[in-house]
Amino acid sequence: MFNMKAVEPRQLGPGSRFRFLCHKQISCFTHCCSNVDIMLTPYDILRLKRRLGVSSGEFLEKYTIVRVDKQSTHPYAYLKMGDGADRKCPFVVVPDGCAVYTDRPVSCRYYPVGQGTLKKSAESGEVRHEEFYFFVREKHCMGYKEKNEWTIDSWKDDQEITLYDGMNREWKQLLMRRNLPGQPGLDDKKKMLFFMSSYDLDKFRGFVFGSRFLEIFDIPEAEVEEIKSSEEALMKLGFKHLKFVLGLEQTLKVRESVLKDREAQAKQAKAARNAAKDKKPEEK
Ligand code: SF4
Ligand code: SF4
Repeated sequence: MFNMKAVEPRQLGPGSRFRFLCHKQISCFTHCCSNVDIMLTPYDILRLKRRLGVSSGEFLEKYTIVRVDKQSTHPYAYLKMGDGADRKCPFVVVPDGCAVYTDRPVSCRYYPVGQGTLKKSAESGEVRHEEFYFFVREKHCMGYKEKNEWTIDSWKDDQEITLYDGMNREWKQLLMRRNLPGQPGLDDKKKMLFFMSSYDLDKFRGFVFGSRFLEIFDIPEAEVEEIKSSEEALMKLGFKHLKFVLGLEQTLKVRESVLKDREAQAKQAKAARNAAKDKKPEEK
């Protein structure tokens, strides 16, 4: 997170114009890559772990810290900054810049633009979410003095933000729905599932193919084939799993045979309880 005092109090839309350029010759180059809180998205982690050639588990262990959000109780992954007083990003190389530039997180791509969401309630009671943007004008950032002109939309295209936002869309929608009043906090098991399905793609793959997941859920054959070869498809199955686990949507279909088995087991358990009651000697 940037310094909130630097947020310009003006709500922007996709066509809002601004002048900006960030380049290696600028005097403040890499100044924004220290002492910053960067919350990572699932697609950030997919791209970064692929870039570094490590598993999602190794990436999370080495490069992230977890913070549990007070309101939603979701455990979120943040980029772990260096221990020094300047809290440098692990990927910043002075004077060259970002060592993972083409796979940098979406927050770094947006900067100096910030993005927020407004909750709007219609008379019918329906709640809609509207995206808006704002500028972050930190004193050290000289980019605003450059002449290149953008709209918010052309900035998003240039920085590949449209691709990242598309990949993370379902996950972000899920967070917004969970932030509505009345949503329960997560117990430890759900927190673990939230973290795995959001960020730990390799562990989630092991869960899908190494547990009874595919016996329980009726996933179309074509989708099973796709998730074997595409991490993006696996990530999106993770979002579906999360919505199901959090009780937001019936995004996964439990197989008929599993439902029948569960029904039969419930009947057996009930019969056993009744039989035990009948056997109980009468109290005097
Ligand atoms: S990931 Fe790259 S762009 Fe983002 S803070 Fe770190 S060095 Fe800077
Ligand atoms: S402070 Fe602004 S201009 Fe300077 S490197 Fe960061 S984004 Fe670029």
